[in-house]
Amino acid sequence: MRKYVIMGVQGSGKGTQATMLAGDLDLVHISVGDIFRWNVQNHTKMGAQVRRIMAEGELVGDDMAESVVRGRLTEHDWNYGFIIDGFPRNQRQAEFFLESYDIDGVIDLDLPDSEVRRRVLARRLCSNCGMDYNLLADSPSVPGKCDVCGGELVTREDDTEEALAVRLRDFHEKTNPVLDLFRRKEYVFTVDARAPKRAVQQEIRTKLSLPPLLDDVNGADGNGAENAGRKESNA
Ligand code: AMP
Repeated sequence: MRKYVIMGVQGSGKGTQATMLAGDLDLVHISVGDIFRWNVQNHTKMGAQVRRIMAEGELVGDDMAESVVRGRLTEHDWNYGFIIDGFPRNQRQAEFFLESYDIDGVIDLDLPDSEVRRRVLARRLCSNCGMDYNLLADSPSVPGKCDVCGGELVTREDDTEEALAVRLRDFHEKTNPVLDLFRRKEYVFTVDARAPKRAVQQEIRTKLSLPPLLDDVNGADGNGAENAGRKESNA
């Protein structure tokens, strides 16, 4: 059983890397942001509570974030383990997590703010099927339309300059101390997230002493950093 946390600022490719890791290792990928987005899209009560907070780039309250994680992990569908992305994001969440679960490693995807800005502002999402695109390297064949379902591509509500500034501030103020806490426990493996996505994935696996990623049709192009997030996840 393997239990990992993946951390990194928006646009660092957390969702992509978590999905690539989860695939052949049979880990369950838990994206807290995806769970909140699902609730917003499906107009649930929780969705109504978090929509504006998310759109402004703010963090949802700790009680709600913790109950989402607790609820998801009590499903116990993770026989081979899990990789959790987007949690913990502050000291309190980290303490909750460490009290409740033991972990085998924390993957820290390191990306400079300038690159975050470049990537995030080029990110688009299909309004119909949720597929992620990045206009820097990954434009759809027909501008503004999803290659898979033809749906309209839109900007994620929280991918604006203003919301990004809030998220970067939160990351540096609240999430970096979490990394320091994990570092003191020697859990953290830092990986340079500017590299192509397969190279990032291989480095993660090397650092965690896991088997290398086998060649696959989607990944064989070696396309990288700028594709982060596309097709594997919208996180
Ligand atoms: P992400 O997809 O990880 O960028 O998360 C999108 C948004 O969901 C964040 O900007 C927050 O509003 C909310 N969110 C995700 N994870 C958490 C968390 N651990 N604590 C509080 N809010 C969160």
